[in-house]
Amino acid sequence: MEQLMKSGGMKRRVLIVDDEMINRELLGAMISATYDVDFAENGKDALDKLRAPDAHYSLILLDLLMPVLDGFEVIKACHADEFLRRIPIIVMTSEKSAKVKSIRMGAADFITKPYDMPEVILARCERIIELSEDKSIIDSTERDPLTGLYTRGYFFAYLPGLQAHLDSPMDAMVLNIDRFHMLNELFGREEGDKVLRCVGDSIKAFLEGTRGIACRTEGDNFLIYCEHHDDYEQEARDRQDELNRMTQAHNIHLRIGVYACESDDVDFERCFSRAKAACDRIRGQFELVTTFYDHEIYEKNVFCERLIGDLQDAIDGRQFVVYYQPKYRIQGERPVLASAEALIRWIHPTLGFISPGDFIPLFEKNGLIRKVDRYVWREAAAQIRRWKDTYGRSIPVSVNVSRVDIFDPDLEEKLQTILKDNALNPGDMYLEITESAYSDNADHLIEVVNRLRESGFRIEMDDFGSGYSSLNMLTTIPIDVLKLDMEFIRNMLTDETNEKLVGLMIDIASYLDVPVVAEGVEEREQLDALKQMGCELVQGYYFSPPLPAGRFEELIIKEIKNESEETHDYD
Ligand code: C2E
Ligand code: MG
Ligand code: MG
Repeated sequence: MEQLMKSGGMKRRVLIVDDEMINRELLGAMISATYDVDFAENGKDALDKLRAPDAHYSLILLDLLMPVLDGFEVIKACHADEFLRRIPIIVMTSEKSAKVKSIRMGAADFITKPYDMPEVILARCERIIELSEDKSIIDSTERDPLTGLYTRGYFFAYLPGLQAHLDSPMDAMVLNIDRFHMLNELFGREEGDKVLRCVGDSIKAFLEGTRGIACRTEGDNFLIYCEHHDDYEQEARDRQDELNRMTQAHNIHLRIGVYACESDDVDFERCFSRAKAACDRIRGQFELVTTFYDHEIYEKNVFCERLIGDLQDAIDGRQFVVYYQPKYRIQGERPVLASAEALIRWIHPTLGFISPGDFIPLFEKNGLIRKVDRYVWREAAAQIRRWKDTYGRSIPVSVNVSRVDIFDPDLEEKLQTILKDNALNPGDMYLEITESAYSDNADHLIEVVNRLRESGFRIEMDDFGSGYSSLNMLTTIPIDVLKLDMEFIRNMLTDETNEKLVGLMIDIASYLDVPVVAEGVEEREQLDALKQMGCELVQGYYFSPPLPAGRFEELIIKEIKNESEETHDYD
């Protein structure tokens, strides 16, 4: 509202409170060109006007000595009222002691009677209104409206000042709710908000009477700065139980990472990023609620920082090598080489071979994966072109498209440019998108996938069954190929439920006319069972591990030779 008046050019409203009519008229005349002015004859009259439902005052000019209710009582009443507290008060008096007293009680300024300098009075009114409006803007960014905890900006601005008054060791904590987005999806946003409010209340209760403070940064991310404890596990568990009793979702699992700050720690961002690293370590580990940052995480952080620092050199120096793993069509008499998946490897000059499992999730977290993926797409496209030229046939290669790429507005353009540079069509390069990307932001993903498909790209859903999607999701999501998660294949022969599930997934996919790729096939028995179930494509160590391009080429040559022998057999 104040903002609106400030920018919208509406006149602000001022209440003049004085029992002497002549004073009211004098003051009114001085400021009425600039403000809308209302008058009250005593303190009671003033409070009635201030409390009227449509009252929006920007300032109160208040006489102190009045009948019925004096000015001091008005200041007191305003101060006690959450809404009125925000309206600044200028007292009008000639007595020095009254000035001091009223300022102590919360008045913003005073004007000395008699009123002999109208310009000065007007200037003071303007200044006080301006100051109070700026402050209310600050207030509105101080608290998170949902939980009443501080906002991130305020929290970090407040910490150094707080620290200066502390002499005990402190802990930085990051609290997160495991799979909060699922909770939102399952129980609705309102219930999600309720859970967040309960967590906020629980943190407030925990900090009550201490010098600790807390904020909510976004979503389900809470930061707490409090006096050091050696162990939080039991306390956290109790609060988690309480939370589960208070909300519909009875399966809430909290995750709390703690960093015990050193006495000279002043880089609070770093303290909390360490607490966050600890918090991330127990993601999905339901047996633990809290964990402390320790040397192991430190080492891992240093390693991650190193990889991040080395990335550009790795791209420039071509340290990334793309390997190709074949996919075989298995329903015919003999398995036929159908396509390949491009899988990245990092051959680091000093660290040696680094597996994608060590750097892909890291680069996904900070968005750098986009650079890596683009590199792989370029390499793969150039390779497809070379094979096409050499062998006169297209070996389609699937490239992995990270969930981060999905949010890149230029994704399609980038892919098209790479294809064009190598004179390829979208049909030559398939795109693998992991299933969990679908549950992150289904609507957006579906939109992107639809657009890519309209342009001719084939979309393979990777790791199906590893996330939270249900089988019936398959009927609504646009895909061209389904890749079953390796876990199913691994346990297929030992676990009957898994075997049934694999069969069921293949049936549903076949009903939807979507071919299935089984990944991670290592043994003959797995292959036979999958063939029996109607699975069309297989990728795995049984046929071949991922290979450098030169070695993969041997498989192409072998395939061509097999084909020509078959043709000769026919002759
Ligand atoms: P993914 O896309 O599901 O790739 C399949 C993984 O399974 C590969 O691991 C492959 O080497 C491995 N694999 C294949 N056959 C077998 C088998 O028979 N047994 C076993 N145990 N494993 C098998 P890799 O190469 O370590 O890649 C791991 C993950 O890293 C990939 O999983 C993919 O999600 C990601 N990744 C790899 N390259 C890229 C890339 O260029 N971009 C992106 N965004 N992610 C990539
Ligand atoms: Mg893949
Ligand atoms: Mg996969």
